[in-house]
Amino acid sequence: MQAHKNMIALIAHDGRKADMVAFATYNRDRLATFDLVATETTGTLLIEKVGLECERVRSGPHGGDAQIAAMVAEGRVRAVIFLVDPLTSHPHDPDIQTVMRVCNVHNVPIATNIAGADLFVASELFDAVAA
Ligand code: PGA
Repeated sequence: MQAHKNMIALIAHDGRKADMVAFATYNRDRLATFDLVATETTGTLLIEKVGLECERVRSGPHGGDAQIAAMVAEGRVRAVIFLVDPLTSHPHDPDIQTVMRVCNVHNVPIATNIAGADLFVASELFDAVAA
């Protein structure tokens, strides 16, 4: 089942994509030490705007969040940075909840805002999750 190295997943809702690009740019060297996976649009921004290498799954509303949730359940994704926009409704809300649920089921760290994401990358423990 372990076809890939352990990965960190990055997802940002549209209202948080600028924050994700700023976060990833500031932390680019640190993030580049990990294998990354992202939903389609978020991943394209990380590749084209930030210069990171990153595997892409489908866009969140088209099943990408569900794909990331499955990767968490399989043990392939070891940490999730999911910058959610709590002020906008999302047609794929069940999939968003699934990402959070499987992270809680499997005790996988998940940051849902920039403050949490900053703490993740500042922590020495972050290196261990994807080792
Ligand atoms: P996107 O998906 O990166 O393809 O925009 C994120 C989401 O809305 O869950």
